Amino acid sequence: MTADHITQALWSATTAFKTFPQLQGDIEVDVAVVGAGITGLSTAYLLAKAGKRVAVLEALKVGSGTTGSSTGNLYAPIDERLSSIESKHGEGAMRAVTDSRTAAINFIEERVREFNIDCEFNRVPWYLFTTPDSSDQSKQVEKELDAARKANLPVSPEPPAGFPYQVDAIVNIAHQAQFNPLKYVQGLASAIESDNCRIYEGTKVMDVEDGEPCVVKTQQGTVRAKQVVMATHSPKGIYAVHTAMEPYREYAMAVRLKGELPSGGVYWHVVKGQHHSVRPYSNAQGNFLLVLGEPHVVGHKEHNEECFLRLEEYMTKHFDVDHIVYKWAAQNYKPADNLPYIGTSPTQHNTYIATGFAADGLTWGTVSAMIIQDLILGKENEWASYFSPTRFTPAASAPKFLKENFHVATHLIKDYLFYGDVDQLKDVKVGEGKTIEIDDEKLAAYRDEEGKLHVVSSICTHMGCVVHFNNAEKSWDCPCHGSRFSVEGEVLEGPAIHNLAKPDTTKND
Ligand SMILES: Cc1cc2nc3c(=O)[nH]c(=O)nc-3n(C[C@H](O)[C@H](O)[C@H](O)COP(=O)(O)OP(=O)(O)OC[C@H]3O[C@@H](n4cnc5c(N)ncnc54)[C@H](O)[C@@H]3O)c2cc1C
Repeated sequence: MTADHITQALWSATTAFKTFPQLQGDIEVDVAVVGAGITGLSTAYLLAKAGKRVAVLEALKVGSGTTGSSTGNLYAPIDERLSSIESKHGEGAMRAVTDSRTAAINFIEERVREFNIDCEFNRVPWYLFTTPDSSDQSKQVEKELDAARKANLPVSPEPPAGFPYQVDAIVNIAHQAQFNPLKYVQGLASAIESDNCRIYEGTKVMDVEDGEPCVVKTQQGTVRAKQVVMATHSPKGIYAVHTAMEPYREYAMAVRLKGELPSGGVYWHVVKGQHHSVRPYSNAQGNFLLVLGEPHVVGHKEHNEECFLRLEEYMTKHFDVDHIVYKWAAQNYKPADNLPYIGTSPTQHNTYIATGFAADGLTWGTVSAMIIQDLILGKENEWASYFSPTRFTPAASAPKFLKENFHVATHLIKDYLFYGDVDQLKDVKVGEGKTIEIDDEKLAAYRDEEGKLHVVSSICTHMGCVVHFNNAEKSWDCPCHGSRFSVEGEVLEGPAIHNLAKPDTTKND
């Protein structure tokens, strides 16, 4: 395998971005949607269609968040397994999950047809399986088979002819789908932009005040709106749901094979402690096989680069790989009780949130749009109560809730008590990022390939935890709630709104 590859998601590397204008001055609308990923744009589509005046405010570019870094698979089951929903919440909740997610896949297919969006949408099977060397995990596959049957999904316990792995146990669900997620949201944004539905790029929201009206402040102007939808993957600012989700970093790769691609499908290969998700994709640039896996809690891993190495090992073990073309990482937020948080923000009246999607959010983001539309329009929604952010599920949430908050507490205490990786800036070597204390200031210092130091505050602007260096992506990642910052301190993602503070320039020696 050659070492040459591009560190960028396949979709953004091969899709031309369209441009939408920046907000100029103050405006008034019915609904302000913050974030132009699949959640924000699907919500904007439905509300504008229902006659609302909508403004979508996007800090960067349409689809440039997690949507454009996903793997583009659409399926009714979930990362944390349907069987876990049945045991934690009962069969009704499991049916709400599969029914709503099936409706969301249909919704996406309908939009692709309605707007003629060229995004390689295809109906394909979804497989969850073990191989002889992971047969100790086959029980969980069998449990999922039972759950999928109970949920009335079109399921079979057999692999199709020509399946690319030797199978021990399998759940084979027909009529799921895959597409190019970036082309889909770019196509959707272009189709819905109108006088009724304005889309603004390069418009970062700095503050949201819930009220009548809500006041949304951006660097370019203020938006007054009756309702605000926080479609930013993790809501920006301080929200109770942050304490009930664990942020995960996950790694992806697109490779070229020496031979043919396996046929279209979502392949989830269960191995101990995780599954690797594999899918084929073809476009004008050629044939690619994508893999996703090796998750870890954000800011909790010392050598992130190892995750790419393990993905590479996995791919070469199972396929005849010629070379890696693209590799990238992205984030997801796992909810404490395995259900997403969709609906009115618990401490607010007119602000809606949609988060806790794990790695299943292309479909959950679409479900969110359907639920939030109904809540804003005052209509009944049969799924809303299952996913409400105000639900209280102590038994179902306890293990993950305690683990997440134990992590946060441990990091706050440990990182302050044993603060500082090095004593002097000269100890930060090329390519390294280290925390240091100078004149009572807690700092994060990164030395680039040219030997130049980049020094910023090491205290996360969200809730004050100490950031950790991510050596695969050269970023400062917060281990508490998943905010991430560039080496210059700019917010990359997560709940933080403000950049890491810049210290006195004399410290950049
Ligand atoms: C590696 C990986 C692979 C995945 N693959 C799949 C998959 O195959 N199938 C699946 O269903 N799910 C998948 N997921 C999950 C899925 O990608 C996400 O859950 C989903 O894309 C979330 O969409 P979103 O619109 O809510 O958030 P995003 O797509 O992240 O959109 C949020 C937007 O908000 C903007 N924003 C942030 N802050 C501000 C601000 N202050 N002001 C204005 N705008 C702001 C961001 O720039 C961004 O564009 C994957 C996740 C990972 C990590």
